[in-house]
Amino acid sequence: MSADGKKGLFDWYFKSNLLIRILIGLVLGAVVGIFAGESILWVNPLGSLFVNLLKMIVMPVILASLVVGAASIDPAKLGKVGVKIILFYLISSAFAVGLGLLMGNIFKPGAGLALATGADAAGRVLNQPKFIDTLIAIVPKNPFGALASGAVLPTIFFAILFGIGISYLRANSEERIKKAGDTLFMVFDGSAEVMYMIVRWVLQFAPIGVFALIAVVFAKQGAKVVGALGMVTVAAFIGYILHVVVIYGGMLLINRLSVTKFFKGAKGPMITAFVTRSSSGTLPVTMTDIDKNLGVSKKIYSFTLPLGATINMDGTAIYQGVCALFIGFAIGMPLSFAQQITVILTAVLASIGTAGVPGAGAIMLLMVLNSVGLPVEAGTPVAAAYAMILGIDAILDMGRTSVNVTGDMVGSILVAKSEKELDMAKWE
Ligand code: ASP
Repeated sequence: MSADGKKGLFDWYFKSNLLIRILIGLVLGAVVGIFAGESILWVNPLGSLFVNLLKMIVMPVILASLVVGAASIDPAKLGKVGVKIILFYLISSAFAVGLGLLMGNIFKPGAGLALATGADAAGRVLNQPKFIDTLIAIVPKNPFGALASGAVLPTIFFAILFGIGISYLRANSEERIKKAGDTLFMVFDGSAEVMYMIVRWVLQFAPIGVFALIAVVFAKQGAKVVGALGMVTVAAFIGYILHVVVIYGGMLLINRLSVTKFFKGAKGPMITAFVTRSSSGTLPVTMTDIDKNLGVSKKIYSFTLPLGATINMDGTAIYQGVCALFIGFAIGMPLSFAQQITVILTAVLASIGTAGVPGAGAIMLLMVLNSVGLPVEAGTPVAAAYAMILGIDAILDMGRTSVNVTGDMVGSILVAKSEKELDMAKWE
């Protein structure tokens, strides 16, 4: 290849759309895997490199983003409105994971893939902690130990406490303490931003990593994995739609609010979220429309919407449920009941810790998998199954982001109504 040709390829790689490149990586990997068969297995280390890069960022992302998320809640607002909206966000997210798990159990995406061969499966002892032990272990004896060993739940627990502590410091009347709180907040906020930047860098390698991981899967498994991915997509989207129609629709109805009026007023943010795949990016549209079309008072939404865009991710929670089950099925070790309960717990927390930016949910999926003893380790079947999900993540992300934003709006409307801050004229 001439120097110009090389430069052209280089330019194309870094300047073209990342999603398209990842998709090309997925399709090329599948085609090459099927046609080249075992002779392509030499690309395996590229896949392992990608997996290591992802794992490198998981714990720092969790720590930084959760501390910032928790520290962003103003203690003064943590009054009635705060308690109501946080309860709504938490409970609806728990329903969402449950729904995701239900869809996964019904559609069984990945069943029969057997990414783990018999020998692999027999050689792996699956860690299935008892539920009560999981609950107790959420409180870390040593938070630094938890962080260093990659124990997700205890790290989350500590990060949330630490974040709430910071928000109290920042609200303190004593200047010295307030300053200390602000400084800490800035340190973690900066760390979170740096981590998101590193995520973006790592994702530049995703097309190659996904290519390698997928090529190896197809070389070993052949075309039958296509159907499995189709099934994941169907299960996730039916989950998304059911959640919006049944759960949100039901909640509006119970509160005597018209569901059609809601969708008419909310369609702008829903579509924007679908195409941008970012709750945070959609926030300006959500705020404008909830005020103009749906009559929520600014007093309520100025607090509930930014909070929702940071911590309320029902679509992401559904996705985590479906994908965790998919990975269990795909490696031939379906998740037990106890593991599914753990998924509910971690996926709710993971969705809180998910930043409202494209693709963030896929990083947090790593932590859900960790919590059920399925860590994504280079060269394992779990890594192969995870790579498959990553290949179609953009599609799954569109739907889940739209659900995420819809949930923020429904929560805000219900809290506004209960606080008599909803302009009922818009609903007649
Ligand atoms: N893209 C989603 C959002 O912004 C987060 C995710 O990846 O799940 O809401």
